[in-house]
Amino acid sequence: MRKVLLTTAAVLLAAGCSDGGTEPSVPTSVAVTAVTPSLNALGATTVVHATVSDQKGRAITAAPLTWTASGTSVSVVGLGGDSAVVTAAANGSGIVTATSGTASGSTTVQVAQTAANVLKVGGDAETGQIGRVLTSQVRVQVRDRLNQPIVGQTVNFAVTGGNGSVSPASATTNTDGIASTSWTLGPAVGANTVMASFPGTTIASVTFTATGSATAQGTILLNTGNNQAAMVNTAVPVGPTVLVADAGGTALGGQTVNFSVRSGGGTITNATAVTNANGIAALGGWTLGPSAGPQEVLVTAPGVNAAPVVIRGVGCAGGGPGTTGYNITLCFTSPMTPSQAQVFRDAAARWAQVIKGDLQDLTGAVPASACAPGTPSMDMDYDDLLIFAIVEPIDGSGRVLGQAGYCYRRVNGLPVIGLMRFDAADVNDLETSGTLGAVFLHEMGHVIGVGSSLWTSMGFLQNPSSTSSVLDTYFNGPGAVAGFDAIGGTTYTGGQKVPVENTGGAGTANGHWRENVLRNELMTGYVANGANPMSLVTVRSLADLGYQVDLGAADNFFLTLALQGQQGGSASFIPRTFKLHNDELKLPQFTMDRAGRTTRMQ
Ligand SMILES: [Zn+2]
Repeated sequence: MRKVLLTTAAVLLAAGCSDGGTEPSVPTSVAVTAVTPSLNALGATTVVHATVSDQKGRAITAAPLTWTASGTSVSVVGLGGDSAVVTAAANGSGIVTATSGTASGSTTVQVAQTAANVLKVGGDAETGQIGRVLTSQVRVQVRDRLNQPIVGQTVNFAVTGGNGSVSPASATTNTDGIASTSWTLGPAVGANTVMASFPGTTIASVTFTATGSATAQGTILLNTGNNQAAMVNTAVPVGPTVLVADAGGTALGGQTVNFSVRSGGGTITNATAVTNANGIAALGGWTLGPSAGPQEVLVTAPGVNAAPVVIRGVGCAGGGPGTTGYNITLCFTSPMTPSQAQVFRDAAARWAQVIKGDLQDLTGAVPASACAPGTPSMDMDYDDLLIFAIVEPIDGSGRVLGQAGYCYRRVNGLPVIGLMRFDAADVNDLETSGTLGAVFLHEMGHVIGVGSSLWTSMGFLQNPSSTSSVLDTYFNGPGAVAGFDAIGGTTYTGGQKVPVENTGGAGTANGHWRENVLRNELMTGYVANGANPMSLVTVRSLADLGYQVDLGAADNFFLTLALQGQQGGSASFIPRTFKLHNDELKLPQFTMDRAGRTTRMQ
């Protein structure tokens, strides 16, 4: 090139000489060309050349040149001779001008960054709690080939593993060339991935990884359906649900929850569930197994560092639709030994021998803790008397034995739901001494209705005593009086018939037959060593209350002549064996009608 130019100049110079004139050569036009008129990265350069011609179109060599650039997209610096270097400064275009004397010429240089690579700026290879937003945002910087940031580039983010979510799913790079999104990890412990892609570019997409870890100190909370009673081999009425939350109490959606039968032999459906947006997971259904007593479903949430929880139920047995006669349904709401449960069943069977007539079954909903704190909820057919039976630690051996009573009864009628609750230590002692059978039979008598609650409400209790006023308290039901006469009471001279306990304090007085007269009869306030017969007095008193009874089922029992004059109230009375102490439980009392509607009476 250089050689060609020199040759041309020599030709032009020779032609001038042939004119013989002396007119000087003046720069008249300038042509500018760029080696690379388009630049694709900031800081990229190209060389421009200028060609200066005189008034006769002849090239002028070594003409002095001044270089300028318009706008902000490019800058230009002369290199000497006919050349200059142009540097890209911003996207857009710039006009590069060369001036020589009064003549000038220019060319346009374009600057347009092209995305060439991407840098992960943050949010990669993180570890975070499952189901939660990662602390660090996912951030990428899009750059040209000279690693200068590109503004305004669209970046798309998509979850490609772990079932989490990103927000936003599409972003535009900022003035630093950075686009970002927030990443919520999926519900399972383990790998999560997000892919960032760059539409309109040739840059390959990049993948971010994160590891989901278990929630720190999360909790599983019982929500609905805990502590229900139902007949064995039937479904509990309310499907159990649990709530999964983090340590701060925030509900965790998308958590896997596993349910498994832990005791009782029941069956469940949908043993695996996932919490909804409110953190709730539902067990499909729970049919209790054949085991009478407590039954359990274990609940775990493997993605949450929480202690497993137990959904409790109670399988009830005895009676039920299709059975005839008078039935007692027992619901063992606490663990107990097989022999203790058998004593309860024996007591129920004995009362069912005495009471022959079926009662109206009732069906209705009973809430939890209706009878006493912790009693289960129910919604079933009650045939004919349902008893919650509880053996639990109370205060150790020899103190409070326990109590029994009813909490629901038919409108103006007989008990339908009751409770028997005993101290485990005393139950063990009684079992060892051989008197547990008599004690449970006695206490079940109170649930059936023997005692001051029903006697008072039905108007049979006369002259009730108190600690400060010991009266000739008596039960005036005609059946019981006839029964008392039949066992030797015709010659009783101690007072009105049938004599009721008038000492011993609340729960003993007014709710038992008088110990001084009826001694070891089952329903006095004291259990004797040896036999505690259920006399005709007790059996016929049940008829006064409204039961149909079998008189022949009463035990043989006769008053002794020595006792017929006893009135009681004397401190000089001899051996009293085991006092049951305030065992007639005064529970909240409700009535239940034939439509299952309940009303609290006291
Ligand atoms: Zn009692």
